[in-house]
Amino acid sequence: MIRTGLGYDLHRLTAGRPLVLGGVVIPFEKGEDGHSDGDVLLHAITDALLGAAGIGDIGEFFPPSDSRWKGADSRMLLAEAWSRVKAEGWQIENIDCIIALQQPKFLPWRQAVRESIAAVLDIDASAVFAKAKTGEGLGPVGTGEAVEVWASCLISREARE
Ligand code: MG
Repeated sequence: MIRTGLGYDLHRLTAGRPLVLGGVVIPFEKGEDGHSDGDVLLHAITDALLGAAGIGDIGEFFPPSDSRWKGADSRMLLAEAWSRVKAEGWQIENIDCIIALQQPKFLPWRQAVRESIAAVLDIDASAVFAKAKTGEGLGPVGTGEAVEVWASCLISREARE
């Protein structure tokens, strides 16, 4: 049996915060605002996996109102969500993501990000992909005010009687 999942997230970019994508800190003058570390890529992947398994979403599992998640490393949130999905017998076939980011260039960091995400999920980096698109100078992404991510995943498990 296979299931697909889709996740989306947007974070405001602000000075004085690190730009964290997939658990990798990318040098830049601005980073994601947010209750946790603001790792927009991991948040979208977390939602994709939870949605594929049909067991919830990131806001339910890790509510911003809960002080435990303040400044949280999003790798921990993803690992926790994945352990819940995995407990239902699912394995990951692949994850593919689009990062909408005007600056900086993502390509030099892609392999490190793939490996970082794969390490959190304990899967092969070849099963994780991400590519970036600029906002062509338009909208909140294009003016550098925000970063957005769409994440898609495919999970599978043996059919149950
Ligand atoms: Mg988020």
